[in-house]
Amino acid sequence: MSATSFTYVQRNRKMVFGIGVRNTLGAEVSELNAQKVFLILDGGALALQKSIEDLIGSKLVSTWTDVKQHVPVELAAAARNAVTDSSADLVVCVGGGSSTGLAKAIALSHRIPIIAIPTTYAGSEQTTIYGLTGDRHKQTGSDAIVLPRVSLYDAELTVDLPLSVTGASAFNALAHSVESLYATGCNPITTAIALEGVRAINLSLPLVMSSPKNIEARAQLLYGAAMSGISLGDTSAGFHHKICHVLGGAFGLVHADAHSVVLPHAIAFNAPVLPFEMAQLAHALDCRQDDVAGSLWDLAKRSGVPSSLAQLGLHRENLAEAATRAVAEIRTNPRNFDAASIELLLQGAFDGVRPVATN
Ligand code: NAD
Repeated sequence: MSATSFTYVQRNRKMVFGIGVRNTLGAEVSELNAQKVFLILDGGALALQKSIEDLIGSKLVSTWTDVKQHVPVELAAAARNAVTDSSADLVVCVGGGSSTGLAKAIALSHRIPIIAIPTTYAGSEQTTIYGLTGDRHKQTGSDAIVLPRVSLYDAELTVDLPLSVTGASAFNALAHSVESLYATGCNPITTAIALEGVRAINLSLPLVMSSPKNIEARAQLLYGAAMSGISLGDTSAGFHHKICHVLGGAFGLVHADAHSVVLPHAIAFNAPVLPFEMAQLAHALDCRQDDVAGSLWDLAKRSGVPSSLAQLGLHRENLAEAATRAVAEIRTNPRNFDAASIELLLQGAFDGVRPVATN
């Protein structure tokens, strides 16, 4: 990719960072000229319900708290009916990628904007990508309407996030950045944003995991996750991401946990054909260029996130089916692959071994 010949499309997004920025929610609602607000609040974040409802005030028409991973089609249909009944003209979503995902399903059908207040590190609020799951298959697509117009990043809302969600969703973010370095649509601007995401996550994640109430570290992690969300949103989902979609869609694995386990192995597979990208990552991760995959695995271990698919409840006999399904999903990858090579990669991930890049 030449640094002087490329296209970068700036999308319509506003990002506000800072402790207490959730208090500007009412003003942001007015700025978008919204009159009727449909609030989606993750069931795990019910402690925030009253304060968020107060911030929306009299424009609140309904609060929805039934949120599930991977947006099952039946759930999306029920929520869409409720939006129709309420005549809402804006969705506010508070929670993780699942809450944002449900808001996206609504924006897609009702063509109304979203304001997102993320409380995990998934970064979905920075992408035009939506996903819906039915028949053990997660169908994804892209539409500008699902990109939240405003995202309020308030680290205060993340200090009580369980460590199991914190670490894994941060790895989901890290995966977005890492893969965007070679994903379709990457360019020097998306790469700069991605490497900033990797740097910020690598520095802040171990701090957050050892001191969960460290709000400065939480703010850095949220910032890194937002950068990673942009890097995914402005490029596309790649090899590793598609494997995780299969593990989530077909085998019910928690999306972020799958990212934590698979990322080092997917990078070990691609590393031999990506020397330039590995050098960039080694700089951002402060590790040896020939040990980027191993360093990602070390970071996972240090952060206490899952490191084996067996630990996530997958069975060894699922690996062949997962590999076959992944081959059908992956459109492009810098290194040639087939079901056998993906199954081998998954075996390493299943056993949780420290990966070594293989030629
Ligand atoms: P999640 O949204 O399912 O949340 C994980 C857990 O954290 C849940 O149990 C939830 O109740 C809990 N939680 C959330 N906020 C909390 C809070 N403030 N306090 C306590 N608990 C809280 O998981 P996630 O990792 O944030 O998102 C994963 C989903 O997002 C997947 O479906 C994935 O496919 C999707 N995703 C989509 C994109 C995209 O661009 N479309 C990007 C990243 C992730």
